[in-house]
Amino acid sequence: MEKLLTNDESSFADIEDNYKRICENIGNAVLKAGRQDSVRLMAVTKTVSVEKINHAVGLGVKLLGENRVQEYLSKCDGYSKDAEVHFIGGLQTNKVKYITDKVTMIHSVDRLELAAEISKRSAKLGKTMDILVEINIGDEETKNGISRDKTDEFIEKLLILPNIRLRGLMAIPPVNSGEKIFSEMNKIFIDISGKKGDNSKVSNFKWDTLSMGMSGDYEKAIYYGSNLVRIGSGLFGYRKYKTEEI
Ligand SMILES: *Cc1c(COP(=O)(O)O)cnc(C)c1O
Repeated sequence: MEKLLTNDESSFADIEDNYKRICENIGNAVLKAGRQDSVRLMAVTKTVSVEKINHAVGLGVKLLGENRVQEYLSKCDGYSKDAEVHFIGGLQTNKVKYITDKVTMIHSVDRLELAAEISKRSAKLGKTMDILVEINIGDEETKNGISRDKTDEFIEKLLILPNIRLRGLMAIPPVNSGEKIFSEMNKIFIDISGKKGDNSKVSNFKWDTLSMGMSGDYEKAIYYGSNLVRIGSGLFGYRKYKTEEI
């Protein structure tokens, strides 16, 4: 952020400026990477007012990212219906039931118990939930996500579950990570695609999403194959309270 406004201080005009700049940066990063595909921009809404979220949707944002169940439930009735909503935060198994009918993808699947609950709740609704496996790519003790060497085994177990569809991977690289971590994520994503890609019998495997990159590193992430970037503070202004960070 050039202006370093909080998301309370940012105006609709600031959000519009930020949105335009981010879209331009995404376009340039795709070009720089020599990619032919496109990148989805997710607006991450934690601590942001409904009015500002809807303003962003009015500007063209088509995807919102939620990371707290309680906060999301208190705001979602006011959301514009023009954007899809994904859940991206750490998710307690007993909270899955509150969001299954409201979101189309869950990015933070890192435990079989959680996946089984998503499967069960989705089955009750007669829906199939798209999921991503979250990898703790920085091997950080305090972070969610599965360790990279357990990923293959975890995926095999997930694919047995009904009513979920595995779409790819999510990661939150440590702040100020070098290029290496991003390229490692890219490699894991491509390797799994290669191993499983020809298995047409597995109908709940549609490997097409690498969710990586936030306000501080999305251009780097795009260079390394991310096709879904999750942007909060860069769009809405920074969050005031440390405890409200991820
Ligand atoms: C908050 C959050 C983001 C966005 O972070 P910014 O640095 O504000 O862009 C992205 N992903 C997750 C999982 C988050 O919790």
